Amino acid sequence: MILGRTAVGTCRAGAALLFGAGCAIAFVAPLALGLVVPVPLLAGAGWRRMDVYAGASGLAFVALAAGMLASVAFGRGPATLAPLGAYLGALVASVLAGWRYLALAEERGHARRQIMEDVELDLAHLREELDEQGRALAATENRRKRFKALQEVVTALAENLEAERLADVTLREVGRILSGLPVNVGVFLLDERGDEMLRRTLDLGGRAPFPEGVRIQDDPLNAWVLEKCCSLPIRDLEKDFRFRGLDLASIPGRSFHLAPMVSQGRVMGLVRVESSERNALNQEDQRLVDSLAVIASLAFENARLYREARELSDTDGLTRLLLRRSVMQRLEVELKRGDQGAPLSLIMLDIDHFKAVNDTYGHPAGDVVLREVAQILRRSVRDVDVCGRYGGEEFLVVLPNTPTDGALRVAERIREAVRSKPFPLRGEERRITVSMGVATAAPEARAEEFIARADEALYRAKQGGRDRVCAAPSPGDAA
Ligand code: GH3
Ligand code: MG
Ligand code: MG
Repeated sequence: MILGRTAVGTCRAGAALLFGAGCAIAFVAPLALGLVVPVPLLAGAGWRRMDVYAGASGLAFVALAAGMLASVAFGRGPATLAPLGAYLGALVASVLAGWRYLALAEERGHARRQIMEDVELDLAHLREELDEQGRALAATENRRKRFKALQEVVTALAENLEAERLADVTLREVGRILSGLPVNVGVFLLDERGDEMLRRTLDLGGRAPFPEGVRIQDDPLNAWVLEKCCSLPIRDLEKDFRFRGLDLASIPGRSFHLAPMVSQGRVMGLVRVESSERNALNQEDQRLVDSLAVIASLAFENARLYREARELSDTDGLTRLLLRRSVMQRLEVELKRGDQGAPLSLIMLDIDHFKAVNDTYGHPAGDVVLREVAQILRRSVRDVDVCGRYGGEEFLVVLPNTPTDGALRVAERIREAVRSKPFPLRGEERRITVSMGVATAAPEARAEEFIARADEALYRAKQGGRDRVCAAPSPGDAA
């Protein structure tokens, strides 16, 4: 009996233990699934949706607590199913929460994708804007560089007044401005008659150099600019209607830009840019070449005016020969050069009985004679010789690198030319004669002494009967 009671007691204790363990498992499992599982889901879903999931989890927890209380109160029977009910409730809540989470995640994913697309679009716009600004910046920088180059051209051209130097500087600066472009550059100058005076060319890789054998004014494109007096841009010569029918084989270039250099309404030169490629220059390049050509024209014009002003201040208005002061300066220069051993001779010329010409035919007629004699002098000497008007009807001719016999020959040539020229004065054909004194410079001679010796020889020519040439004795003979 006692044994039987003990066995039943042991069984109840075992059952209670099992029941307790079952309850514990039944409690922990729904807790884990109903509460712990939704929490990570909640975390993933974000705290903003806490309200939805907190409700579901709360319900699961209440069901669980009810099951627990029922199992404690009744200890057996259907109450033991309460934790299982709670477990299932929690599971349903988890599934619902999961399903809701997935729906929200999908929604959020969609929204995120939309946002990403918008952001990418904005980024693309920004990138485009940035590129555009980059291009604008590069263009501004390029323009700045080019304006700087233009500024430098103005400075350089203002300093260099010789035509050749101006052409060199113009060519260099056009080359600098167009550096990087596949072009050939040419600067061409024409003289007053429109003939070729000077050409300078530069190869920047245009593979279309201006042909060597062709005269500047004979090229059809140059001729067009010379005639129209305006610039000529050609993007593609083959397609240019203005030059249809042109023999393209004779012209190596495909695209061109020709800008005239104009002075007093006349084209006195050209800046020519050409390339074997089509569209080698854009509009901005073309405008720059035009601007440079204008600046160069101004510089050339300036140089011309400067030269003329200098010539005017150096030359005698009536005879266009150098004035006494200028011829004396040139004589000094030649004397210094003559120190190195080259002979230097001087002719002093005086018109015979010139006063009588004035008295008979009047002063204007005398002026005509003076002009004609000056003209004969100019024509009778070399370019290196210097002619000047020394006084009223007296002239000086400086003959560098000329010994006495050479100077005497020149003087005789002048004498002959003057005496053989008929001067039509008041209906008559008057003959004029001149007398000359020739001297050759002694080493280290001074200009005044040198002139005095030529003057003495002239005096002897006058004394000897005029219309003749006398040579001054060499300094050694005089001693
Ligand atoms: P000689 O043969 O001795 O040289 O005699 P000449 O008459 O030529 O010499 P003279 O010195 O007596 O006369 C020079 C004249 O030249 C006097 C002057 O009126 C004239 N004369 C000087 N300058 C000019 C000028 O610019 N134009 C003109 N028409 N006559 C001038
Ligand atoms: Mg005289
Ligand atoms: Mg005289």
